[in-house]
Amino acid sequence: MNKYDYDVLYIGAGHGTFDGAAPLAKQGVKVGVAEEDRIGGTCPNWGCNAKITLDAPVKLTREQENLKNILNGHTSIDWSKNMKHKHQVIDGLPKAIGGMLKSDDIDILHGHAALVDKHTVKIGDKTKTAKNIVISTGLRPHRLDVPGKQLAHDSKDFLNLSKLPKQIAIVGAGYVAMEFATIASVSGAQVTVLMHHGQALRRFYQPYVKKVMAEMKKQGVKFVPNANVAGFAKSGDHLVVKYGHSKQLNVDYILDASGRIPNVENIGLDKVGVKYDVRKGIAVDDHLRTSVSNIYASGDVIDSKEPKLTPTAVFESTYLMKLFSGQTKAPIDFPIIPTVVFTSPRIAEMGVPVAEAEKSDQYQVVHHDLTADWYRQVDQEPVADVSLVFNKHHQLVGATEVSDKADDAIDTLLPAAELKLNKQQIGRLVYLFPSIASDAWMNL
Ligand code: NDP
Repeated sequence: MNKYDYDVLYIGAGHGTFDGAAPLAKQGVKVGVAEEDRIGGTCPNWGCNAKITLDAPVKLTREQENLKNILNGHTSIDWSKNMKHKHQVIDGLPKAIGGMLKSDDIDILHGHAALVDKHTVKIGDKTKTAKNIVISTGLRPHRLDVPGKQLAHDSKDFLNLSKLPKQIAIVGAGYVAMEFATIASVSGAQVTVLMHHGQALRRFYQPYVKKVMAEMKKQGVKFVPNANVAGFAKSGDHLVVKYGHSKQLNVDYILDASGRIPNVENIGLDKVGVKYDVRKGIAVDDHLRTSVSNIYASGDVIDSKEPKLTPTAVFESTYLMKLFSGQTKAPIDFPIIPTVVFTSPRIAEMGVPVAEAEKSDQYQVVHHDLTADWYRQVDQEPVADVSLVFNKHHQLVGATEVSDKADDAIDTLLPAAELKLNKQQIGRLVYLFPSIASDAWMNL
């Protein structure tokens, strides 16, 4: 008889867990999953899936705007219908993911989970034991510690807004700020982005970020660099953002998009001796093992140089599945993880960043103005640029694109970089014509 209740007990039911837990249980491994909130975690409920559903009519509006010399009439977004559609698409996901886990004989344990010792977890009033434990508690929004901070909202609140506020202030200019500023402004709100420093989307190629910002400005978004937000207050029926040297902005809604921080508190890490950093997350080795040998961590909560994105969490939870089921003993070997910001236009990148390549003699960077391509002219894309990074053997090792189709274009280029394809191999791949794939492939 098994000494423990579970072979593997996961804390958290997001992508850092379920993509690996389900196939692990299918192999006869006894698995438990503890979750205090919605099954699926941030991405399906309050992140990617919710955001991309709200973005669908925003993307369409952009496409219509690009073709306005051909189309008659004007359409606008009905926020409450868009939100209703989001609920229709999203609200069933926890049940669907939970159903999938249960169908694989996984126990779902509802309640707040905390480590009691290295093999024991308390979930609500239940106590369960496990041979191995995986901590996958994710991130939560960082909140500015300024006077009136309770008047600001976070990304979770924004994604559930039943009525679109007229005037919105967004603090920060990262992924969440830029995507939500796009959605809100195209949907009819007046948006002001209060930047921390002088740059938006710091990790992306800045000449392309500037092109995104220029398009957002045309849409009416205002950017305040080095805003130095000092606090929020209520005045009559509106809110006031205090910033800069005694400047004020009157708005109806404040979104604090100043980053995300790891959920490492109140889960017993100190009690059991799991090492972590309150800002960066849980320390893991190259097998995703924490400082306690039978406790692992996966997904956004880990302290890692990999981008904290859903594809990273999926790769990590799948790796742990292979490790626990004996399919591998090797360290985790991350592939190239692409990333995209769903603004209008999008900005997407993978592999060696262009700015890094430009400073090195190891790479050659080739820039293409894609607006000159006949295929991009079909949709009259006003902004479309790609920068390709090649190594000394002329293999593609990185790419960044700014365009309305940047996400699909970068996905298309990804295999060439990840698999280090040579000219001959690239020549064997024949894509549908015309398509974004054949267009993107043409420049290799
Ligand atoms: P980001 O780290 O992307 O951006 C945070 C922003 O807040 C930056 O502009 C930063 O400015 C600013 N900031 C930081 N501290 C302060 C402060 N004290 N006062 C004012 N502004 C401040 O965080 P997000 O919350 O936007 O996104 C978190 C993560 O979630 C992302 O890194 C990404 O991994 C993931 N995500 C991914 C998406 C996607 O894949 N499309 C979409 C949404 C989120 P500065 O850089 O100048 O310090």
